[in-house]
Amino acid sequence: MPAGSIEIRSLRKRFGSPEGSFVDALAGVDLDIMGGSFFVLLGPSGCGKTTLLRCIAGLENPTDGTIHLDGERLDTVAPYARKVTTVFQSYALFPHMTVAQNISFGLEMSGHRRSTAKGRVEEMLNLVQMEGYGSRKPSQLSGGQQQRVALARALAVSPSVLLLDEPLAALDLKLRRGMQVELKRLQRTTGVTFVFVTHDQAEALSMGDRIAVFDRGAIAQVGSPREIYDAPTDRFVADFIGETSFVDVDVRVDGVWVGDMLIDSRVLAEGAAVGGRQTFSLRPERVRVVATANASTLRARVDEVEYRGGDVLLLLDTAGGQKILCRDDPSAGRGPGDELFVEIDEGSMRSVAT
Ligand code: ATP
Repeated sequence: MPAGSIEIRSLRKRFGSPEGSFVDALAGVDLDIMGGSFFVLLGPSGCGKTTLLRCIAGLENPTDGTIHLDGERLDTVAPYARKVTTVFQSYALFPHMTVAQNISFGLEMSGHRRSTAKGRVEEMLNLVQMEGYGSRKPSQLSGGQQQRVALARALAVSPSVLLLDEPLAALDLKLRRGMQVELKRLQRTTGVTFVFVTHDQAEALSMGDRIAVFDRGAIAQVGSPREIYDAPTDRFVADFIGETSFVDVDVRVDGVWVGDMLIDSRVLAEGAAVGGRQTFSLRPERVRVVATANASTLRARVDEVEYRGGDVLLLLDTAGGQKILCRDDPSAGRGPGDELFVEIDEGSMRSVAT
């Protein structure tokens, strides 16, 4: 395994409350994070992402289970002795120190002499494209610049792993997009393992080499962005990532019955089996309005139209009582009540466990 690889086994973290109740923030997590990769922990608020990050950093003691870094036990090592650094949403820079002092501080704490630290500070300011800012105080920098300094400080000590806890959440959308690109570049040029926490699925898809989707303290699915988007293994993942419709249909030998309409079973993704009523997920971009009916079309009526600039999203009531989403061309000018046919792409309906 490449340097900076993490192996997490049966990790549990239970928090108690003064009233005697408890919550399993991590309910037995198994996870392999490949060294040198950009790994994203994704999930809704309260699902345990931050708790996992804090266990890796040593800020939280697991109730049970193990964490190894490059084959060596990590969870029993004191936090300061771990080759792991963290960047938080609140940049946590020392306000009374200059940018250079902020970066230098971590280096000196980890045993660098001040004279050698100076060169490393310059190198780090270069890396995050902040040359010339060394003598400023954090209050004289924008939010994005402060975040760059926090990254420089965290990377200066050459960690094996950099943990990032929603580091972009405080930035406006434009700046956030810029920093996403910047973070990808930093990860590639340093080769350090980045473990990045977010609840933003679009951010996860655009940044992660691999993504672990969390649901209530457990991992629902691990995969590449494409696998997670195209082949969600359960309803929670399909619903949380992107837009999707859930359709209840009967799969029989003669094809797929949507209410009283029959369509060709080629619309089903691989692995779907004949056998009664099942739920499938269907992405809106795999459904298209067509002029005439064929073996893969459904009859539908437009219920709602959501204009989104580049495209519109139609919410359709199909004959047979199913609601599906369909992406459409804004210039078509369709509106509520319009009757139409929609064609479903081959292999686009994926069976989801509920
Ligand atoms: P968010 O995106 O909102 O930060 P998260 O996915 O990071 O959410 P965690 O912060 O890991 O979630 O919390 C997981 C669960 O553990 C939540 O139910 C939370 O209330 C609980 N929890 C976290 N820290 C503590 C604590 N110190 N004491 C008690 N319960 C806690």
